[in-house]
Amino acid sequence: MTSEQFDAVIVGAGFGGIGAAIQLKRMGYENFVILDREDDLGGTWHVNHYPGLAVDVPTTTYSYFFEPNPNWSRLFSTGTEIKQYANDVADKYDVRRHIRFNTSVESARWDEEADLWRVTLADGATVSTRYLITATGFLSQPHMPDIPGITSFAGKIIHTTDWDDAYDPRGQRVAIIGTGATAVQLIPELAKTAADLTVYQRTPIWVVPKLDFKFSARAKRLFARFPVTQRAIRAVTDALYEFFIYVGLHHSKTLFRRLNIGASDLAKMHRFFSIRDPELREQLTPDYDFGCKRPTFSNSYYRVFTKPHVHLQSSGIERVESDGIVNSDGTKTEIDTLVLATGFDLWEANFPAIEIIGRDGRNLGKWWRETRFQAYQGITVPHFPNYLSLASPYAFLGLNFFNTMEYQMRHMDRLFGELKRRGATTFEVTEEANARYLDRMTELIGDSVFAVGNCATSRSYYFNPSGEATLLRPMSTRNAIKEASQYPLSDYRIA
Ligand code: NAP
Repeated sequence: MTSEQFDAVIVGAGFGGIGAAIQLKRMGYENFVILDREDDLGGTWHVNHYPGLAVDVPTTTYSYFFEPNPNWSRLFSTGTEIKQYANDVADKYDVRRHIRFNTSVESARWDEEADLWRVTLADGATVSTRYLITATGFLSQPHMPDIPGITSFAGKIIHTTDWDDAYDPRGQRVAIIGTGATAVQLIPELAKTAADLTVYQRTPIWVVPKLDFKFSARAKRLFARFPVTQRAIRAVTDALYEFFIYVGLHHSKTLFRRLNIGASDLAKMHRFFSIRDPELREQLTPDYDFGCKRPTFSNSYYRVFTKPHVHLQSSGIERVESDGIVNSDGTKTEIDTLVLATGFDLWEANFPAIEIIGRDGRNLGKWWRETRFQAYQGITVPHFPNYLSLASPYAFLGLNFFNTMEYQMRHMDRLFGELKRRGATTFEVTEEANARYLDRMTELIGDSVFAVGNCATSRSYYFNPSGEATLLRPMSTRNAIKEASQYPLSDYRIA
């Protein structure tokens, strides 16, 4: 039996959910709830707290457009500071009181008779809501590798999303599986105290230098007193990232392919100046194009492999035994601790993160898999009335999540503004508008590194299981924001 009824239910209290809540409040909605399975807000910035965690997008850019933060200590701030920023924004905009922690959502079903979503929670309770917003992020379901024997390991196993803050690697023999963005940050930290560290690399990653610096107390005072100064720096960091992504990733076919090659040259030089041993350099060299997989930024990653107690193991893993790992080259590495920096299940577990059944019993996850991954403007789906999916195919604008959030908030603003103007309560994107957007995205992606580059060996999560690069929205932030403020309202059936 339904116990509570809301105007809106938001699933997820990360930066997506907080942004959606702020937007709802701006539009006058107060009767909404944010449900989150964790015990605190911040999403990925609450869940992840492994040593070395930092953002690798300049923090001048990594914040809501409407809420610059003058307190960032440096250009690439730490995870702790970003979590603090999430707390501060949630408190400033009075979002926290809407959040229910330790509340897992299982599924949501559109009730056609009542024009409501019926949301089922893990404890069996249900709530109903007029509008459903999933802000479950792209990287929220940890990937546990299915390696033979892994459950027989007798030592300590830690996944990076479940870091044990009491764990001290001092004097320990540690192995880490994975060389993604997380591992690139964590490996130099582990190497500081572990007695022995073996890094299991399956696919090398592109690493470029990180041009980081501290903001002086005087700079922070200036940002606080004259926010325009920080906005000016943001304009520069935004423009640089935008240029890099738009030109380097999305327009690889054109003259600008040169930029892509320039970035790989930079990574190559970085390897050359960090590592003397050509064989080791070779082992760390990717054989796919820069940009196929998310590149990383670090000044210490390559250098750490020159330390005598750090070993790169790239022959593969045969099996795990109770006391170590048997490598594919026949050797065995005895270890005390196994760290899994094995990332996330995106396409398998995150599209969508909960079961969602729309009009005519359409199951979103099934439909995406049986047709193609798609969502109009990266936010709405036909047959799913009154539903906004913030973690959609063709939604994410690239390295900076906040740009994505900005256009999604503006999309909400235009849509809900029209509902109010008409005194309406339901919306649903038309099949035609959705098909038009999908065709356009398919065409645009055809010009990107994902289509024209050499990505075959990259094992990149930008590609879905059918081999289509349907994660990123291949356009500039400026254009995405413009579209969010101008899309034809006739693309929606509003009643
Ligand atoms: P990831 O990029 O998916 O990397 C996972 C790593 O684990 C890969 O090297 C993968 O190898 C390896 N792996 C997975 N299963 C394996 C298996 N069975 N055997 C051997 N190796 C296996 O995950 P991540 O490093 O956690 O990063 C995910 C994303 O989080 C990043 O791309 C980034 O968007 C975000 N992130 C951001 C920041 C930041 O500063 N903003 C920091 C950390 C993470 P393959 O490559 O061969 O699959």
